[in-house]
Amino acid sequence: QSKSLGKNSFHFYSQALEKEALTQLAIEQSLRKAIENNDLYLVYQPKVDLHTMKVVSVEALCRWTQEDGTVIPPDVFIPIAEQTGLIIDIGRLVISKACLQLVKWREAGIGELAISINLSCLEFQNEALITHLIDTLTHHKLEGKSLIIELTESIFMEDKFSVKNIMLRLNEYGITFALDDFGKGYSSFSYLQFLPLHYLKIDKAFLQDVESSSSSAAIAKTIIDIGHNLGLKVIAEGVEDQFMLDYIKTYECDLAQGFYLYKPMLPEAIESLYLVNDPSH
Ligand code: C2E
Ligand code: MG
Ligand code: MG
Ligand code: MG
Repeated sequence: QSKSLGKNSFHFYSQALEKEALTQLAIEQSLRKAIENNDLYLVYQPKVDLHTMKVVSVEALCRWTQEDGTVIPPDVFIPIAEQTGLIIDIGRLVISKACLQLVKWREAGIGELAISINLSCLEFQNEALITHLIDTLTHHKLEGKSLIIELTESIFMEDKFSVKNIMLRLNEYGITFALDDFGKGYSSFSYLQFLPLHYLKIDKAFLQDVESSSSSAAIAKTIIDIGHNLGLKVIAEGVEDQFMLDYIKTYECDLAQGFYLYKPMLPEAIESLYLVNDPSH
């Protein structure tokens, strides 16, 4: 009895796996086509300076809406893109689109707005992609300080000297770096100290629990202190309500990002927001 049950459940399991593999393959093919057709686009989520409550930069987040209207979230397509190498093509288009956006905003008189882009380890260590980044920047005569690169802690698993060299090379252009989702993965203080970082982003999981969990609250507060002690600006992401906002303000976090403040939005919405925010434009 139990044997046959086991057999059945194995059968079921392998069918589920097969189905998942098929979905993965279908997404890969569809993603390849979407990249060719230029169907991927960027939305921008404002980051607010907690002293002035003004928008100082935006994070570019990649979006993919399939022809039939199905939205595939980046948490689904980015890992598949990484497994298939398509991530480099995505990186190219994210860099190109973000830089073009900076040019447009500069022309519209809101050139002081910096854009941050997310680069995975594979992207960051791809020489051709880094060259593309520098070429695009210089081609458009953009200032590197308009660009922030967000890396996650998984970069700590890579060769630290080569990572540091790429960072220093980009630093020379004025490009700055944020460590994303800090506290979620392999958080190493020695790497925090070793790499030329400028911003530390507290993983949103801690913030989301500040009200319900005293340990998450303590961690969030401690990360702010660590960041400050290392000379970094600290960004809280995933601010979803007034409680979280008050909490990070109390502990002197520098910047905040979250649905409670602004959702990720199309560039036109960013522009109108800027016009509303600042009547001098
Ligand atoms: P991330 O870089 O940590 O980006 C922040 C994520 O949190 C975004 O999800 C954003 O929409 C979401 N978020 C913002 N405010 C809130 C909030 O108040 N509450 C909650 N629960 N979430 C909030 P999104 O856009 O789905 O992106 C997910 C992840 O996918 C990103 O995490 C990043 O790791 C990756 N990703 C997105 N775009 C790109 C890209 O162009 N290249 C690469 N390599 N990765 C990307
Ligand atoms: Mg990010
Ligand atoms: Mg993050
Ligand atoms: Mg993330």
